[in-house]
This record gives sequence, structure tokens and C-alpha cells, in this order.
Amino acid sequence: MKAPKPFDKTEILVVEDSITQAEYLKRLLEYKGYTVTVCFDALEAIEFLDRKTPDLIISDIMMPKIDGFGLCSYLQSTDLLDNIPVMMVTAMTELDNLEKAFAVGADDYIAKPVQEIELFARVRSLLEIKFERDLRIEREEKLIKLRKNLEEKNRLLEQLSYLDELTAVANRRCFDDIFEKEWKRTVRTKNSISIILIDIDQFKTFNDTYGHPAGDECLKHVARSVDSTLKRPADLIARFGGEEFIALLPNTDLKGALFIAEKMRENVFKLQIEHRKSNGIKFVTVSAGVGTMQPGQHDNAKELIRLADNRMYEAKKAGRNCVCPNG
Ligand code: GH3
Ligand code: MG
Ligand code: MG
Ligand code: MG
Repeated sequence: MKAPKPFDKTEILVVEDSITQAEYLKRLLEYKGYTVTVCFDALEAIEFLDRKTPDLIISDIMMPKIDGFGLCSYLQSTDLLDNIPVMMVTAMTELDNLEKAFAVGADDYIAKPVQEIELFARVRSLLEIKFERDLRIEREEKLIKLRKNLEEKNRLLEQLSYLDELTAVANRRCFDDIFEKEWKRTVRTKNSISIILIDIDQFKTFNDTYGHPAGDECLKHVARSVDSTLKRPADLIARFGGEEFIALLPNTDLKGALFIAEKMRENVFKLQIEHRKSNGIKFVTVSAGVGTMQPGQHDNAKELIRLADNRMYEAKKAGRNCVCPNG
């Protein structure tokens, strides 16, 4: 692999207490075209690394105060060594020195007297590995960003696919999914679950009188009203179709559900949306049917909806603008 950086943009830090040795390394590396900085002790090197990030560190082992191992240990305790390769230089060639150098995070090792050809070969291969790793990290970061983006878009899409476009309450699909989960949970917990079906009275006449766009506006107001009547986090209101809404009330008995249904009926009436062609009351009203069950293993969720639906029709027969069963 070719280094992605030109040599003169590749920075090497040489940490070496011997001026002669430092000058020698600097001259060799600069001759090859690298940019070289020399620090004469570990503290100076640490200061330099606070300001700049070289592509490679070549460090002597035997130095006064802090030696090469100390420098490496310090760098390892920061996250600096994650991306900068370190090559140790020493006159000693004992095995335990080598082991110690690698243990504190060094990547390679070269013995004094430093041979030109060996130095260049090792520097080049360390840099190649480093640049390859840099590229990989860059690609991984891009990938993570892309994935995050995608996840966000998917979340948004999911939300959109669960929303009724006109009224901005949950749609039928959302209701079906959540109802199925809540039903199963209720079978397990042996609690009560309630459903309220809410249908706008004489809505066809409303459309005929005021026009379809006014009908749409009316649907939005009614949706907002029935939605804001619900207070518990687990409660859900959804558009069931046309001018019908459905409320799902987990852990709610018939008495509680009737109370909510009556509140919904009252709140819609309080909107005072004019409906001059309705029979009797000259405002938009709703009829509601309430169903409650304490389902067992063999019950079917559809039964509960059928129950609420039947009762909604009974409310219509009873004159509309009311709740059935009568609370
Ligand atoms: P009832 O009191 O028995 O419920 O009578 P209704 O007129 O409300 O019932 P019907 O089922 O006869 O009519 C429902 C009307 O709701 C007919 C349809 O045009 C209207 N509707 C359904 N969806 C929409 C919608 O998205 N926008 C508008 N503006 N009207 C809708
Ligand atoms: Mg030394
Ligand atoms: Mg209807
Ligand atoms: Mg209706």
C-alpha cells in the first residue's frame, strides 16, 4: 500500500537524550523527506504531544528522569498511543527489554547502532500500518454515521406509517399492533381491558352542508378533543376509519371506561362545532360504545371490538350524542 501522505507531510517525533544520536536520526529521516522534530527528554515529548500529533514516535529507552518505558506507559494511559506507532531504540538487546517495551505499547524495536536500511524499512512499514489503520477508522466512522442516519430515517418512517395523516392521531395499523400486544398482556395479567368506539353523528349531512374540507377540519378537532381526554400513558386513541375513532384502555374496568367515554362525548359537544342540519342539537356530537373484557386464553380480541361496535349502534338507536351502555 502506498502511504496516503507525501513524505514531507509525514511527521516523526524523535525522543533521544544524546545530541549526536538525535542529530544522526534526524539527518537520516530528513534525507528521506520526512518532517522531524527532536525532543531531548520524555517531558519535552509529552509537552509536544499535547500540541501536535505526529505520525510516528521513535524513542530512545535509556534517558535521564523518565526513560522510554516511562514515556510509553504515560502515552498508553492517555489514548494517544491508539493511533501513533512507537519504535524503541536502544543499545541493549536483552530479551527482557524487548518484552518490557512491547508490554508498555511499543510497536517495534531497533538496536543501536542504527543501520540506515533497517531504519527506513521499519519506519516505512510502521507508517504503512498506521495509515491503513487511519483509513479503516475513517471508513468505520463514516459507516457509523451512515447507520445512525439510516436508523433515524427508519424511526421517522415507522412513526409516519403509524400516524393518520389527516388527524395526526395513531392510525388503524398502529391500533391493531398495540391492541394485539395489550390483549396478550391482559390475558397474562388477568386484568380488564376496555375499548371505546366513537362515531361522529350525522357526519354525512355535515359534509353535505359545509363541504368536505370543513368535514376534514371537524375530524381534526374531534380527534384532538378525544385524544386530550385520555390521561394515562398506556391509553391510546386511533382513527379507526372514516369518522370513527377507537380508544384502547388497558387495565381499565367498565366503570372507568364509561367515565372516559362520557367525558369524550361531553368534550366534543363543548367544542360547539355548528351542525345546523343535525336532528335536534345544532352542534357536532358523537355516539360511543364501550366494551370491557377480562379475557382468558380462549377469548378473541375481535370479540371485544364487536361488543363495543354493537353498543355504539345501540347508542345511535337511542338517539345519538350518548354512550352505551348508559353509565
Ligand atoms: P351516523 O350518525 O349514523 O353515524 O351517520 P353518519 O352520517 O355519520 O354516518 P355515515 O356512515 O352514513 O357517514 C359517514 C360519513 O363520514 C360519510 C363520509 O363521507 C364521511 N367521512 C368519512 N371519512 C371522511 C374524511 O376523511 N373526511 C370527511 N370530510 N368526511 C369523511
Ligand atoms: Mg539514551
Ligand atoms: Mg360511521
Ligand atoms: Mg357517523
